Amino acid sequence: MCRICTEPVADLLDLTEFNCHCCPDVVAIPPELVNLRVLWCYNCPQLVFIPDTLVNLVRLDCTLCPLLASIPSTLVNLTRLGCSRCPLLASIPDALVRLIKLDCHGCPLVASIPGTLVQLDNLSCSACPLLVSIPPTLVRLAILDCAHCPLITSIPSTLVHLDAVYCGFCPLLTSVPNHAVELFCYGCPWLPQNHAAFPAHLPSLLRLQRWFRHGKKQVFKRVVRTRAFIEFIYDPAQIGGKAVKRQLEAELGAMRPEKMQKTD
Ligand SMILES: [Zn+2]
Repeated sequence: MCRICTEPVADLLDLTEFNCHCCPDVVAIPPELVNLRVLWCYNCPQLVFIPDTLVNLVRLDCTLCPLLASIPSTLVNLTRLGCSRCPLLASIPDALVRLIKLDCHGCPLVASIPGTLVQLDNLSCSACPLLVSIPPTLVRLAILDCAHCPLITSIPSTLVHLDAVYCGFCPLLTSVPNHAVELFCYGCPWLPQNHAAFPAHLPSLLRLQRWFRHGKKQVFKRVVRTRAFIEFIYDPAQIGGKAVKRQLEAELGAMRPEKMQKTD
């Protein structure tokens, strides 16, 4: 229980900060609380509504609210927004142009980051399965975490202020800026940065082959039979060229396309 649940709204009107996190009962933040500048309402299992009247909010944390479906587009003064792991949240409003920090990781319905958020310095959008791109207009970004985003294919080269990029386990990622000071791209097999060390991938390829021989075909299919893998192996510009392909063929010996087809 929090003060929303236990006190008349009239007693809360002057509040500029409010915290009802983890309240099991709160369903909606009262629209009368227009003086709020900071609102912590994370992990509220019943919360369905944040009113569009809270236009003075500069900071909002509504992480882990399983019933929350939207953030009002009127909250244009927000500089920090935490809305990660909200399974019903469908989008990030493009009107939140003052955002400096946005954490929307683990939101399964969020399919895009607005290109209007040009003040963003810190963006965490990892584990968003529908996210297809990082906008090239977010030129102030210093920290980007887009790990475990299966549809992202590149990180724009216009993001010249990136200090740290966490992009691990993005299976389709084929380019990241070279200037990032710290690059954490473990598990991205198709990055040029990783191609140079291609022989280091052979042990995992051989492991895949063993899995295949032991009947774990689903694992094998997921990793090997991707368009990215085929493109990587047969790209004429691929480092190692024919030599690597011959080496791969020799190492994988018995594996032939017709055998791969039988896994269907
Ligand atoms: Zn409450």
